[in-house]
Amino acid sequence: MKSCRREFIVRSAVGLVSSAFFPLVAHAAEELSETDPSAVALGYRADATKVDKGKFPRYAAGQNCANCQFYQGSASSKTAACPLFTGKTVAGDGWCNGYAKKG
Ligand code: SF4
Repeated sequence: MKSCRREFIVRSAVGLVSSAFFPLVAHAAEELSETDPSAVALGYRADATKVDKGKFPRYAAGQNCANCQFYQGSASSKTAACPLFTGKTVAGDGWCNGYAKKG
């Protein structure tokens, strides 16, 4: 009985320490805002069809994050991480000037 209580106390302590030091584990990454300075610099739009083609002439119809080699999700993922925007997710339908067609 005594060891059960001790085990409970140890497990509780481990749980408290884990939640104190790894609070981000349970939270999904935040979606990149179009107004984020790094997004503005690269012309990121969550809807690729809204890209400012005058400012970002590299954009071509049909390009989007879901078919970019940097997109970390599957082609059908609504959002996924992108190494160009660390700690954020981008929209599968989005686009930025770092676009590179998936090979
Ligand atoms: Fe989307 Fe590719 Fe730009 Fe990342 S680099 S935001 S996946 S277009």
